[in-house]
Amino acid sequence: MFSEDVINRIRDGIDIVDLVSGTVSLRKTGKNHVGLCPFHAEKTPSFTVNPDKQIFHCFGCGVGGDVFKFLVMQEGLNFPDAVRQLASRAGVALPVDSRERGIDKKASDERKLLLTIIAEAMDFFRGALAGPDGSGARAYLQKRGVSESAIDDFSLGYAKPEWDGLLRHLKGKGQSEDLLEKAGLIVPRSSGKGHYDRFRNRIIFPIRDLSGNVIAFGGRVMDEALPKYLNSPETPLYSKSNVLYGLDRAKEQGRRQGYFIIVEGYLDAIACHQHGVENAVATLGTALTEGHLRVLRRFAQKVVLIFDPDPAGVKATIRGFDALAQGGMKVNVVSLPDGSDPDTFLNMKGKGEFDGVLKSSVKLMDFVFSETIKIGPISPIDERVDVAREFVSFVKKTPDINIQNYYIKKIIDKLDIDEAIFRQEAFKDNKYRKGSSGKEPLPEQMRRPQAEHILLHLMLKDEEIARSIRDMIHPQEFTDPLFRRAVEKIFRALEQDGRLDPAKLLRDGDEELNRLVAHYSVLDTEYNDPARTGKDCVARIKERGHARKMKALSASIKEVEARGDQVGLRKLLEEQQRLLQGRHAVQDEKTV
Ligand SMILES: [Zn+2]
Repeated sequence: MFSEDVINRIRDGIDIVDLVSGTVSLRKTGKNHVGLCPFHAEKTPSFTVNPDKQIFHCFGCGVGGDVFKFLVMQEGLNFPDAVRQLASRAGVALPVDSRERGIDKKASDERKLLLTIIAEAMDFFRGALAGPDGSGARAYLQKRGVSESAIDDFSLGYAKPEWDGLLRHLKGKGQSEDLLEKAGLIVPRSSGKGHYDRFRNRIIFPIRDLSGNVIAFGGRVMDEALPKYLNSPETPLYSKSNVLYGLDRAKEQGRRQGYFIIVEGYLDAIACHQHGVENAVATLGTALTEGHLRVLRRFAQKVVLIFDPDPAGVKATIRGFDALAQGGMKVNVVSLPDGSDPDTFLNMKGKGEFDGVLKSSVKLMDFVFSETIKIGPISPIDERVDVAREFVSFVKKTPDINIQNYYIKKIIDKLDIDEAIFRQEAFKDNKYRKGSSGKEPLPEQMRRPQAEHILLHLMLKDEEIARSIRDMIHPQEFTDPLFRRAVEKIFRALEQDGRLDPAKLLRDGDEELNRLVAHYSVLDTEYNDPARTGKDCVARIKERGHARKMKALSASIKEVEARGDQVGLRKLLEEQQRLLQGRHAVQDEKTV
C-alpha cells in the first residue's frame, strides 16, 4: 500500500521516545527508556523503548513493535491510518498517484460513503424517537430507566413498524439500493424484486468502532417478540466477532482500571455507563469470542463477565470456556443476586452495591470447578473419576502449566483420588506433563533452547556479530521454527540492505515474529565477549543437531538390521561414520 521508502522516511522522521511520551511517562535507564505499560495493568515499569532501534517492547505482556505499531495499538487505528497520521507528524508527503493508492482510495471512498449512509440512517432513527411516533419507544426507555442524557450520549433511535420508511428516506437523499444493502440497512425481498427495511418496530442502538464512528445498528424489541436482538449483518464496516458495544467509550476506563466488565445487552451497557460503571461493554447478543478478547487485550488484561445464573446461562458460560481460556486474558465471572440483569440491578440498588457484587467475582476456572464437581470423596469411585476427567478436559485447555497443576491438585484433594495414577492418565497426551510446579512459568519464547536465544540477541545487538554468525550457521540449523524465520529474516536483510535495522525487520512480519524481534532488540543484557559467546552458541546448536541426527540414524540402523537388509545397513553405517567425523570437527572448532 505504501512503498518501503515512504515508510522508512516516516519512521526516520519520528522519534519513538517523543511519540510514546505523549501517553506514557518514560524514564531513561541505560540505552532504554522505561515506563508503565499502556497495554496492560502494572505497578513496576516493564514497558521499554529503545530510541536507537526505534522499537518498543513490554517485558510484561509481550507487545512490541515500531512507531506504527504503537499508534495502531494506542489509538486503535488501522495501519494505513497510522501511516497517514505519522506522515503528517514527520512532514512526509504521501504519494497519491500510484495504482495501489488507487485501489486503496476506492476502498476508502466506499467506506466513507457507507459511513455517510449509516450516519444518515442514525439521524433518521433519532428523529423518529424524538417525533410523535416515538412516544411508545420513549416510554419504554423511561420505564427501563434510561435517562434523557443517556439517550443522547448513545444516540438511541427508533425504527417505526413500517416496511420501507428508511428505504424511501435514504433513496430520497439519492442513495442507491445497492449501497443501502451493502450497509446492512435493507434486505432484498424474497420475490427477488426490491428491498425492505431490516429494522422495524425496534429501539435502535448505534454501534460504534473504536474511533467512535457509527458502523452498524442493533435493534431491540420492546415486548416479548423474537428475535429479541437484531443486528446489522457483516458489512465492509462491521464484523460482529470483534466489535463490542460501548468500547469506544469504555476503552480509556478499561485501560485505567485494568479490566473490562462484560454484559450481554445494550441496555445493560448503557445502565452501567449511566451509573458511572464506565469500563462496561456488551457483546452484541452473541457469545464472547477470541476476536473480542483480542480487541480488549489492547487495553487491559482482565475481564469480568456478568452471566445469567439460570441453567442456560451457566451452560453458555461453560460453553464459552475455550474462547475465554485461550484468549490470553484473565477472566472472572460473577452473577447478580436473584439473577437480575445489570440494568435492573443498577437502577434499583445503584453503583455501590454493584461494585460490591463485582468484588465477589471468581476465576472462570473456579467457576467451572464448582459447576463440574458437585460430589465429594465419599461418592462411588467411578463417579468421582468421571467428573474428575470432565474437569481435566477444561484444565488442559489452560496454557499455563502452573495453573494446570494447581487445579489438578485441587480436584485430587476434593475427590480423594490417587494422585500419581490420575496425573499420569489425565496428561498422557499432554505436552506439559513433565513440568514441575512452583516455578514461575517462562514466557513461551524463553522455553526455547538457550543457545538460539543468545544468538538471536547477539545478532540484533550487533550487526558485525550478525555477519560473522551468518558465515557459521544456516537458519535451518535452528530447531525452533520461529527462531528459524527470525534468523532467515536477519540474514536476508544483511544481504539485501547490507545493514541490519531491527525496526525494518518488523515491517512485514507476523505478530509472533515481531514480538520476538522487538523483545531481543530492547533486551539490555551485556556479554563479556560477544564474539566468543556467539561462537560457543553456534557450536552448541550444531552439536545438538548432530546428536539428533545420530539418534535418528541409530534407530534406522536397528530397523534395517532387523530386516536383514545388508545394502541398506552399509549405507547407513557409512553415513554414521560421516556424521561422527563431522561432530569431531565441530568439537575441535569449539575448543580452539
Ligand atoms: Zn505490557
